[in-house]
Amino acid sequence: MSRFNNTETALIHGGISIDERTGAVNIPIYQTSTYKQDGLGKMRGYEYSRTGNPTREALEALIAELEGGYAGFAFGSGMAALTAVLSLLHSGDRVLISSNVYGGTFRLLSKVFDHFSITYTISDTTDLASFESDIAEDVKAVIIESPANPLMTVTDIRAVAEVSHRHGLLVIVDNTFMTPYLQKPLELGADIVVHSATKYLGGHSDVVSGLAVVNSAELAEKIAFIQNSTGGVLGPFDSFLLIRGIKTLAVRMDRHVYNAEKAAQFLSEHDAVKNVYYPGLPGSQGYEVNLRQAKNGGAMISFELKDNYDINTFFENLQLVSLAESLGGVESLVCHPSSMTHASIPADIRKKVGITDGLIRLSVGIEQINDILGDIAQAIAKAERK
Ligand SMILES: *Cc1c(COP(=O)(O)O)cnc(C)c1O
Repeated sequence: MSRFNNTETALIHGGISIDERTGAVNIPIYQTSTYKQDGLGKMRGYEYSRTGNPTREALEALIAELEGGYAGFAFGSGMAALTAVLSLLHSGDRVLISSNVYGGTFRLLSKVFDHFSITYTISDTTDLASFESDIAEDVKAVIIESPANPLMTVTDIRAVAEVSHRHGLLVIVDNTFMTPYLQKPLELGADIVVHSATKYLGGHSDVVSGLAVVNSAELAEKIAFIQNSTGGVLGPFDSFLLIRGIKTLAVRMDRHVYNAEKAAQFLSEHDAVKNVYYPGLPGSQGYEVNLRQAKNGGAMISFELKDNYDINTFFENLQLVSLAESLGGVESLVCHPSSMTHASIPADIRKKVGITDGLIRLSVGIEQINDILGDIAQAIAKAERK
């Protein structure tokens, strides 16, 4: 539970926000691997930085407080966080995954965990009856993204958590696209939240990192053991960068969302655009559900240009908006999911879940909105096949 009523304040003062020894208003970067012991078994709270480091600990306490969880854990990447969480499973277990999840999550299950006989089924978590019918004897967990990457489909987290718990499943939500400022999955019934903190939490495209937050002492003990045993921890300097990024999350997010709402409107009214996927657009899939569980639609948009537009020409003519992997930084980025973020998903599955070769994903940055829209408009104009 957070000591603060408002997330804006918790972002700045949550966790361990003052250095006890000196009163420094920023937690120092404890760039050390080990700690002097005063005698055998006489430690001052730390023994080795894989097991515990004060800078990482401040970040872990902060994310736990922000998500309203029992404990937080910081990892070297979002994938390392997911790897640790999936390590709770045993061979023979099966995981259900939302029909569009981050490509790397799919790859981790299909190409790594399958070595250990932990299998997966792609499930439409937006359809409760269909989801429940996928729960077989061996299913032990579900991974949800809402909005999901890259079609921004919304899953009713509370409803899926209820059904899942009736069947004894562990409910894992990847909250990367929303952040705890816009959505708090543990309050909606999830057991574990994971983040690629590389994205909005860091916010400046300068650090790769992952976080996990659990809702119970029992899960905390297990994840702490796995984190220390498998070792994918976040370093002290990167932990510092994340704490620094998180302080401004609310002001950045407000501007990201303001810009995204304008961009979604602009794209949906543009003659060259065939489809716009944005949960903040009235009439979009899951619009009402999203408003019940999140503050707004976030700042990720996907769209498709009509067939007489060449998307490669569109990408090549962007001046301000960069074609790049990743999202959630202050700068606007576009990506081509079918050849970039979701390339590790086989073409037939991509097609089935609607990730077409014409799909463009836009991470709306915090630049002046007219500059973003002007750049997109001129690149679209150049992309028209004459
Ligand atoms: C980027 C991303 C990940 C992977 O995180 P890394 O920090 O790149 O390892 C996982 N889930 C989502 C939704 C992402 O966008």
